[in-house]
Amino acid sequence: MTATGTVPFHVPHTAGRQFEYLRSALESGDLDGNGAYSARAAERIQQLTGAGHVLLTPSCTAALEIAALLLDLAPGDEVVMPSFTFAPTASAFVLRGAVPVFVDCHPDTLNLDEKALQAAITPRTRAIVAVHYAGVACEMDEIQRIADAHGIPVVEDSAHGLGASYRGRPLGGIGTLAAQSFHATKNVHSAKGGALLVNDANLVDRATIIRDRGTNRHQYFLGQVDKYRWVDLGSSYILPELLAALLAAQLEEFDTVQRRRREVWYRYHEGLAEWAAAQRVLLPVVPADRVHSAHLYHLVLPEPGDRAAFLDHLRARGVNATFHFVPLHTSPAGVRYGRTASGGCPVTEHVAERLVRLPLHTELTPAQVEQVLDAVVSFRTSESRGSLP
Ligand SMILES: *Cc1c(COP(=O)(O)O)cnc(C)c1O
Repeated sequence: MTATGTVPFHVPHTAGRQFEYLRSALESGDLDGNGAYSARAAERIQQLTGAGHVLLTPSCTAALEIAALLLDLAPGDEVVMPSFTFAPTASAFVLRGAVPVFVDCHPDTLNLDEKALQAAITPRTRAIVAVHYAGVACEMDEIQRIADAHGIPVVEDSAHGLGASYRGRPLGGIGTLAAQSFHATKNVHSAKGGALLVNDANLVDRATIIRDRGTNRHQYFLGQVDKYRWVDLGSSYILPELLAALLAAQLEEFDTVQRRRREVWYRYHEGLAEWAAAQRVLLPVVPADRVHSAHLYHLVLPEPGDRAAFLDHLRARGVNATFHFVPLHTSPAGVRYGRTASGGCPVTEHVAERLVRLPLHTELTPAQVEQVLDAVVSFRTSESRGSLP
């Protein structure tokens, strides 16, 4: 077979006005952050998430670190989270001395399993982190019920979740705090960037101080104090204005980006249904009470041994695909700093070694989408061949 060129796994979105905005931000000389583009980007994020207050940060990682500072975690405090996530979900809390307690995920949504969560709560549990994998919401009502029963906050890691909702409520606006990512690999981006969404009004002032190196500079600008001073823990967690300009341009096109990504997502979903059933491959599951963000399109192959063969098969047909998270509970730092909930994370281990993500970005042409589909459906898994490799 002849490949018609390589389909890249990811191409960061380019927004029409991003160069104009970058130039204008540079020329304004107001480079520190908190300028006009920051305000515009924060307002758009607020509209999309229904969040109480939006603070732009240099990354989702930084937003999670602010969340950990806001929660006043002490050494030995526990934070329950899924193992199937990215390192910063856990490391942000470990930096405060807290112990991540890793729980298993559901085999269909790959989101944190509420029964495992419930069982993992101890008198030392101080927070729950809900990661909306692929921008499909976690079972937030049940998670919130468990959190309320123990008087602890829920932090949403909504790195994948912008534009998604749970029972009509946008993700990011549900937990006490939420972290958003605008890394170049996400749907819209500022090369690197993020936001902390603060949904408890009592936490806004302190979050603002922590983000500004632990100083009350913001109150000084508002004329509330006559000089600004070091008043709390904090770090340099404000998104520079240049990146906010890039982000503002990207967010202006959010609806277009989402429409394009959803078209590709649903074309894959429809085009792969029959093949997946015959090959015992699991396609993404989106429960009926949720709208997803089309952040990823993933497949779970029947056997780990299928994955290398599948990726080679796709590569030979010009399609770059890849795996995803390596479970945290078996990662070196996860073992050193965290604890695995009793019962372990068998579903996470099963899924992590069988999962493949297909190309999904705004630069894909319809012909490339068909190229991906043709490449995928011409693969036979070991199950369908009736023998293990
Ligand atoms: C991308 C990602 C992050 C980190 O985002 P940064 O903005 O790069 O810090 C955190 N959590 C999850 C689930 C992610 O996918």
